[in-house]
Amino acid sequence: MRINNVRILGGEPVDIHIEDGVIGAITPAGSTEAGAVPVVDGKGAIALPGLVDLHTHLREPGREDAETVLTGTQSAARGGYTAVHAMANTSPVADTAGVVEQVFRLGQAGGYCDVQPVGAVTVGLEGKQLAELGAMADSAARVRVFSDDGKCVDDAVLMRRALEYVKAFDGVVAQHAQEPRLTEGAQMNEGVISGRLGLTGWPAVAEEAVIARDCLLAAHVGSRLHVCHLSTAGSVEIIRWAKSKGWNVTAEVTPHHLLLTDDLVEDSPVGAYNPIYKVNPPLRTRADVEALRQALADGTIDVVATDHAPHPVEDKETEWSAAAMGMVGLETALSVVQEAMVDTGLLDWAGVAQRMSVVPAQIGRLTGHGQPLEVGAPANIVLYDPAVRTEVDPAAFASKSRNTPYEGMTLPGRVVATFLRGKPTVLEGKLS
Ligand SMILES: [Zn+2]
Repeated sequence: MRINNVRILGGEPVDIHIEDGVIGAITPAGSTEAGAVPVVDGKGAIALPGLVDLHTHLREPGREDAETVLTGTQSAARGGYTAVHAMANTSPVADTAGVVEQVFRLGQAGGYCDVQPVGAVTVGLEGKQLAELGAMADSAARVRVFSDDGKCVDDAVLMRRALEYVKAFDGVVAQHAQEPRLTEGAQMNEGVISGRLGLTGWPAVAEEAVIARDCLLAAHVGSRLHVCHLSTAGSVEIIRWAKSKGWNVTAEVTPHHLLLTDDLVEDSPVGAYNPIYKVNPPLRTRADVEALRQALADGTIDVVATDHAPHPVEDKETEWSAAAMGMVGLETALSVVQEAMVDTGLLDWAGVAQRMSVVPAQIGRLTGHGQPLEVGAPANIVLYDPAVRTEVDPAAFASKSRNTPYEGMTLPGRVVATFLRGKPTVLEGKLS
């Protein structure tokens, strides 16, 4: 197969020749004879290495009404992803070798996107007892990222033990930083708007205090910490400080925290108190969004991770206080990043490739993904047309769920095609 006339990271047009699942050659555009191989026209598109998500909720096993490994990986492929890390808060929880292997094999069977299971830190996500981290690491799923995401590992002793334990197999603990007592009953960002709306506030300090503690713990035991979904300017300052010390700390931000703010809860195109904007951590202020964008641009925040969180209609279309927290994100991530970071001049396409493919693969210790598009590299490729602008239509999503905050919004860019080891999973924007 050959991809004609495509610009790698936005550079000069080339033809990419795919042979046996790897990039066999890269030649100047138009320099190759027609020949017998199938050709994908990449005119107008840029090529990036297949995207890698560090934070995806696939919901299987247990909530197949919201998403399955198959529909979630189809959604990922449509968003340009070739690998996703599947969070452990399924039912049963992914806290044993058996469950992580089940999820891993479901990903292989689907063939749309590699699924790398995340293992739970504690048994049943209950925060009482460490899960079998070593058994998950040694399993066929080769787990390297451990997280109780959805819940915080708030016990400092357990967090310390987990950080110490994962060193044996070069693992990383990904913390969902949310001090539970400070966020009891919390509904949205604590600030002017929560006060006006009478919703229980979710203070920035509930996130920042846990991040500060965990950076100190990671430094103390000499281990690797990853912080999920940073949402406040203060969190950015703490990560910047930890990195200045040379500590092994990485951080992610979601596309929605780069674009949306808490005033949408009060006033939006879909009205006030619309739970489509209810998410954990909550949408914050314009000043927080600006700090997150700057931090992603200067490398303080390492990666963009979607926190794709599918929910069925009945769990979202209800009153604010009863609604589930979370948004789908795989199929809009690249467009939102273009809107927030590229079209604002904060990042170029090489910077996007670093933060959405290369570095997430490194943090997850995923071999075979996040490699530069060079001869000999696996042909994990996304073709993306940044010039078009389209209205977000949730009905077109491959995801089983539709809880997107971008419905009806016009966003830049479109994933034209995705290749997983040379096999097209998406062609002309459609599943292949
Ligand atoms: Zn989380």
